[in-house]
Amino acid sequence: PVNEVVMTFLSRSANEGFARTAAACFVAQLDPTLDEVNDVKTAVSEAVTNAIVHAYPQTLGKITLRLRLFGDQTVEILVKDNGVGIEDVDRAREPLYTTGNEERSGMGFTIMESFMDRVRVRSTPGKGTMVVLSK
Ligand code: ATP
Ligand code: MG
Repeated sequence: PVNEVVMTFLSRSANEGFARTAAACFVAQLDPTLDEVNDVKTAVSEAVTNAIVHAYPQTLGKITLRLRLFGDQTVEILVKDNGVGIEDVDRAREPLYTTGNEERSGMGFTIMESFMDRVRVRSTPGKGTMVVLSK
């Protein structure tokens, strides 16, 4: 990468806004449109919220956000946790699929896919999940 920022934070909901804003600041160096910044903020918000809400039920754990710039127009954003993991990633990525309560709509992955060019998910049950967003 030509630039990289890594930050680690606890899975407290207060840190979602911190991560979202950090990602927006990082992509600012690409001189993006307001729409492009908002797309990145929305996608990062969904990925980080998932790590906060689903990865560490009843406990606090660490979440890593790694922001990388390749060339002069490609960003890659990694959101990683060491939480419970996902049994069936293909199923989890389906629209409306949720293991959450009535507050969740099961649209997080679908939103990430629609706002970013590429979404990769790797997860191991009991070990954790990594989501890589690129644009
Ligand atoms: P919404 O995002 O609309 O509030 P949701 O979080 O349930 O609802 P998605 O973001 O699409 O929907 O995630 C689908 C499901 O994938 C979740 O319900 C959860 O079971 C699982 N999941 C997603 N991210 C993680 C993660 N980091 N750790 C463990 N499970 C996850
Ligand atoms: Mg979600």
